[in-house]
Amino acid sequence: MPYNQTFMMIKPIAFRNNHAGPILHMITEAGFRLKAMKITRLTAKQACDFYAVHSDKYFYEELTSFMSSGPIVAAILEKENAVADFRKLIGATDPAKAEEGTIRKLYAESMSHNAVHGSDSDENALIESDFFFSKMERF
Ligand code: GDP
Repeated sequence: MPYNQTFMMIKPIAFRNNHAGPILHMITEAGFRLKAMKITRLTAKQACDFYAVHSDKYFYEELTSFMSSGPIVAAILEKENAVADFRKLIGATDPAKAEEGTIRKLYAESMSHNAVHGSDSDENALIESDFFFSKMERF
């Protein structure tokens, strides 16, 4: 049976600029259902753990300090084909290359100061959801 959930974050810059509302509106308008959601803030250690896969990249330090620089919104979303459809809705990692109408085109400032995160596989959606949410926090 296909896994129909993905994990997303509204990153500190978008939260700070008060874009959480319009971004969540785009997400629900695109047919995603909220299964879990919270406002939280990552410690530097949690940001390093979450992005451990990038620990050898030149942008790791900048990415993890940015991600722990302020509050974020974390959420689990449900929809058929959730991972691929959400990646399409957010657009390319580099906002300059993101398609018109995508969340990153509208709200990301740069590659480093990206507006949102979306899981890139079903496997990572599970791991990332478990990173943030207990069973009791899912509906
Ligand atoms: P995503 O799945 O599209 O978010 O992209 P990745 O998982 O590859 O990267 C995670 C985050 O690291 C991205 O959202 C970017 O903010 C940042 N990032 C990725 N690649 C680069 C890069 O080449 N330069 C910089 N400055 N940041 C990057």
